Parts: sequence; C-alpha cells; structure tokens
Amino acid sequence: MPKGRVNLAHVLKRRQPAKPFSENCTCQREPNPYNRDVPELPDLSILADAFAAAFVGRSVLAAEAPGPLTVRGTPDELRALVGQRLQKFYRRGKFLWLEFGRDRVVINAMLTGRLQLAADPAVKKPQKTLFIIRFGARDRPSPAAAWTSGAEWIPADDATPELRYRDVAQMGKVYLLPRGVERAVPGAGPDDMGPDADDPDLTLDVWRQRIKRHPGELKNLLRNQEFVAGVGNAYSDEILHAAELLPTRKRGTLAPEEVDDLYVATRATLANAIEVLRERVPPTFEKEVRDFLAVHNRGGEACPRCGQRITQTEAGGFVTSYCRHCQH
Ligand SMILES: [Zn+2]
Repeated sequence: MPKGRVNLAHVLKRRQPAKPFSENCTCQREPNPYNRDVPELPDLSILADAFAAAFVGRSVLAAEAPGPLTVRGTPDELRALVGQRLQKFYRRGKFLWLEFGRDRVVINAMLTGRLQLAADPAVKKPQKTLFIIRFGARDRPSPAAAWTSGAEWIPADDATPELRYRDVAQMGKVYLLPRGVERAVPGAGPDDMGPDADDPDLTLDVWRQRIKRHPGELKNLLRNQEFVAGVGNAYSDEILHAAELLPTRKRGTLAPEEVDDLYVATRATLANAIEVLRERVPPTFEKEVRDFLAVHNRGGEACPRCGQRITQTEAGGFVTSYCRHCQH
C-alpha cells in the first residue's frame, strides 16, 4: 500500500469503504456552521465590485432591519440613511464598506452571512433576511470595475433594487456608522488588520518585513488578519498547496526563497480565484463557489499536482486539507 494511503486511513478512519471525504463528513449529517464556505477575499472582492456596479449612484429609498440583533445602531440611525446616495461599496479584509453621502455602513458577514442583489423588491426574500436597503433610480453615472461592464445582472437605471443581508446562524453583524458617532467595529480597526493580501502596496519587500514578526505555523500565519487581511480557512490551504509548503510548517524554518514562494503563491492563488469567480458567481451572489479549489475540502481525492491522496484534518471545527507528498 502506498505510504499516503496508510496515513490517510488514519486521518479518515471512520470512512468505510473509501469514498470522497465530503460524502462521509459528519457536517453532511449534522450541519455545522463552521464547516460552511466562509466568505474570503476572492468571494468578497467579487461581491464588492458587483454591488458597487449595481448600487453606487443610487439614493436610499428605505432601510429596514427585520433582524434587529444583527444591526449595531439605532432605528433613528437606520432611518437617517434614507435619501443618502451611495458613493462607494468596497471590501477591506473580510469587511464590506458602504459609504453614503454622510454616513457609512460596515458589514461583517462572518461565517454564514450572505448578500443578495434583488433587482426588484418583488423578488422573494430568502429566509433569515435580517437587513435590507432599498435603492432608488440611479441619478448619477458611476464608475465600476471593468469586468462588470455591460453585465445583464446590473439593475436598470430606473429600477429600485434591494441589497439584502441574510444570515441563518445570525453570527454576522451590520454596523451603522453615522457621521459623528464613534462605534467600534471589532476586527476592522487600524491595528486589527494588515494590508489586504492582494494590495498592490504589499510588495515582496513589505511581505519579507511583515512576516518576520510571525514565527508560528504557516496556516495560522496566513489566516492572521494582522499579518495580511482577507485570507481564511479555505484559501490558506490553497495558497500553501501552491507554495508546496505544509500548513503546520513553522515560519521560522523557512528559507528566504520559501518566504518569497509563499508571497508569489498568495498573490497568484487569490488572483486566479478572482478570475474564476468573476465568471462563476454572478448573478447569484449569495452562493460560494469552491468546486475549483485544488485541495481544500478535497480530502481523499487525488492531488492535482502529484496524484497522491490529499490528507484532511479537522480541528476546532475547521477543515485543513493538504498533500503530504508534494508539500514540505
Ligand atoms: Zn501532491
């Protein structure tokens, strides 16, 4: 029996007979919100571009919070959004920022929050829709990401589309930040987050300097938002596979060229995912497309690089997938 098979049997000892891991994963029988595909930088980048194209340049007709516990802010602050024009919709780390004429709104979707673009208020609301902003006609042209140009899912200028936030586990939060009101957004402060993992200013030199402060295991390093922002459980696995580095490898053991490889793999993996998702996600923005990933959640399947079986572990509810044959 090949070496990898023995080790895999150890990791997946409950599995008889051998099948793809997903068919035997306990999360299939007992839904565990931690095993969902949590939105990360590529997912949220697509969403931010698309929602900017759909909503920027429109003014708020109505703002509602059917799930008041999700919203950090007062009913008066929510009502005060009415009439304000949306000027920007962008991602920073795993947070989505909406900048209106006067006030701002921040969405932290966390594990299970999802956003829907409803071209018309008559579109049926999903269950657990907790926050809604209805926009009026677009009264001002607005620049948008080139890839969204001419997309059929962009509501017509005279439409009254809705942004809807739903969250089955009600873990995410929507923060209202009226001008003049100090309200903390945990995790989004200037000291909470390093540069975005795809930030053009995050050069190789900056990466080399920043990584020195973090001696620990590589998977934890990549998921640490204080190091670089936007990478989570799924894409950390993908980046480490691309870099041919094991998730448990300690940063302190990396040769200088491996530090550089990790940078290149980070940028390439995220850029590639964004390319794929631009084609695959619209117009259903509330779904997470992950079927193109190389290793994450593919335990027991063949590694696309070496053909050996992918190993998968689950600690604290978080899946880690890697190839013990071609990652070192
Ligand atoms: Zn491999």
